[in-house]
Amino acid sequence: METPDDPTPISHRVAEGLARVAMAMRSDEWTRAEATGLKPTQLAILDFLGGRSLPARVKEIAAHLGVSQPTATDSVSALERKGLVRKSDAPGDRRAAAVGITDEGRGALAAAGSMADATTTAVGALPAQEQQELLMSLVKVIRHLQEADAIPVQRMCATCRYFSPHQHPDAAKPHHCHFVNAAFGQNEFRIDCRDHEIADPATRAATWDVFQRDR
Ligand code: SF4
Repeated sequence: METPDDPTPISHRVAEGLARVAMAMRSDEWTRAEATGLKPTQLAILDFLGGRSLPARVKEIAAHLGVSQPTATDSVSALERKGLVRKSDAPGDRRAAAVGITDEGRGALAAAGSMADATTTAVGALPAQEQQELLMSLVKVIRHLQEADAIPVQRMCATCRYFSPHQHPDAAKPHHCHFVNAAFGQNEFRIDCRDHEIADPATRAATWDVFQRDR
């Protein structure tokens, strides 16, 4: 029997756990994509475009997904052939193309999104407080990764110019979103918000400081 008297550091075992969760998520992605006749990268592109109010350049899509530009270009071309995305001139630069989702693309995305997925079900089985704590821990890990340039900046509240942490005395809704001019709580913290606009690095650092200090 394996003894626990010299375990690997907890950070290593948490990373091992996240790798197992990532495995389940990849399986979920394949199942959802195949059910809609797409590849996982194609579905991820639809997901990205579906959460934006404006079309995106291929370069942005590649950066968000963490794939090469040729890979993103191939996937966008496949989606365009299926009528799920449409290319147009990028605003301010007619030599570049911007990619937007079509109504058919939104239909495919809705069909994929309506399928049960094992990871969301597993997280949903946790008590509400544990879900909130897990969300906050993930926000911290994601922020650390993006500040270390390990992943592109994600569209989450912590990096958004509209985010003001701990502006309100109400413990249930202490934060403020200036985009919708409303207070919100930890459990409403967004990881991928379509209205996100990146704050400059100094503002991001100051905002994070307040968010952390006043928690
Ligand atoms: S716009 Fe979105 S990401 Fe920005 S603070 Fe509001 S909810 Fe958060």
